[in-house]
Amino acid sequence: MAQILAPSVQWQTRFTKNSIEASSMTSKMWGSLFLKQNKKARVKSSTKYRALAVKSEDGTINRMEDLLNLDVTPYTDKIIAEYIWIGGTGVDVRSKSRTISKPVEHPSELPKWNYDGSSTGQAPGDDSEVILYPQAIFKDPFRGGNNILVICDTYTPQGEPIPTNKRHKAAQIFSDAKVLGEVPWFGIEQEYTLMQQNVNWPLGWPVGGYPGPQGPYYCAAGADKSFGRDISDAHYKACLYAGINISGTNGEVMPGQWEFQVGPSVGIEAGDHIWCARYLLERITEQAGVVLTLDPKPIDGDWNGAGCHTNYSTKSMREEGGFEVIKKAILNLSLRHKEHISAYGEGNERRLTGKHETASIDSFSWGVANRGCSIRVGRDTEKEGKGYLEDRRPASNMDPYIVTGLLAETTLLWEPTLEAEALAAQKLSLNV
Ligand code: ADP
Ligand code: MN
Ligand code: MN
Ligand code: MN
Repeated sequence: MAQILAPSVQWQTRFTKNSIEASSMTSKMWGSLFLKQNKKARVKSSTKYRALAVKSEDGTINRMEDLLNLDVTPYTDKIIAEYIWIGGTGVDVRSKSRTISKPVEHPSELPKWNYDGSSTGQAPGDDSEVILYPQAIFKDPFRGGNNILVICDTYTPQGEPIPTNKRHKAAQIFSDAKVLGEVPWFGIEQEYTLMQQNVNWPLGWPVGGYPGPQGPYYCAAGADKSFGRDISDAHYKACLYAGINISGTNGEVMPGQWEFQVGPSVGIEAGDHIWCARYLLERITEQAGVVLTLDPKPIDGDWNGAGCHTNYSTKSMREEGGFEVIKKAILNLSLRHKEHISAYGEGNERRLTGKHETASIDSFSWGVANRGCSIRVGRDTEKEGKGYLEDRRPASNMDPYIVTGLLAETTLLWEPTLEAEALAAQKLSLNV
């Protein structure tokens, strides 16, 4: 709400007692706009319109919401497209808007665009242009109507993906015939922490102090246990509206921490949907005056970190005999532990300590129903002999394009030597 009230300062000055008399054009203009929408009120008393128009206690008139909610579809075919991309840190989401002449259904109908990469840490000032390629479209829950959000990836003017564009390589992996044939599914559990603005301290925590120890907060209800539910819920609906494949939400172990799940989604879609969901969360927390952090360990000490568990299966894993395929995938993953860890998020070493439902960053482990392992296999998967695995290593700030691409690459495209495979099988008690 703070966001909506802040820009109305200009209007406040127009509507001070004196200025209404002083500027008859302005008051007439606004008066007629108001009266059109409130015919009943006018019948009662036309002189009261000013009083009725006052919404807030400080005497200001807030019509911003009326304009924000204006449905422009009866007046124009044009729509607003919000082009979204990943900025220079690899975690920041940036966006800008442009008018498109008519509603669109596919990203290929949209023009490429550009931005100043020197302002996002992605290009030098003397050659600053970065080109946006529209890749996925979602409905815009903020603007409504036919307006859209557009997930883009980023290229040099010569058509090379820039270093922070991790989508490009992932899209290549997911278009490999072998990977396509295995229809890889991803279910991503995005954890995040809500912080109070300006104090860099979690929502619901006493400033300068700590809440009671962890235990009562996970999936809890109550003003002393659940902090930020409205944000989680607003985000849930915004995601559904947008067309994001969101599958659930829950309050987390650390107070002020939440999770939403996206999936199962096929291939590159998982990354597109997580990035769009992150963007929506940034916009919603912005409106609430709460700061979103994806830091993997926002508070040191006996407080849970934030991860982005990635549940993964292939067609063969989901079919009869799938558990054997899962074991072979785990074997491959064990042999590339270092490559995966180095690509699973900044600061993950602060989170993967071996405590708080994590495995140590230095060693690879797997287990059925064990939340202290790098890879967990669910009880159902063991029982049915098919299903999926959960990679518990990715941090909350991971790039889903990297993680999903790497999982597919390591388990479907990469092969260890027979010798390495035999050694690893012995070490992990995996008979494949
Ligand atoms: P957890 O018990 O670890 O908290 P969640 O319920 O939060 O698990 O998330 C599990 C995720 O796994 C969901 O997003 C779900 O859609 C996804 N999932 C379920 N089945 C599969 C599958 N076969 N392959 C990949 N992901 C799956
Ligand atoms: Mn979960
Ligand atoms: Mn969780
Ligand atoms: Mn999980």
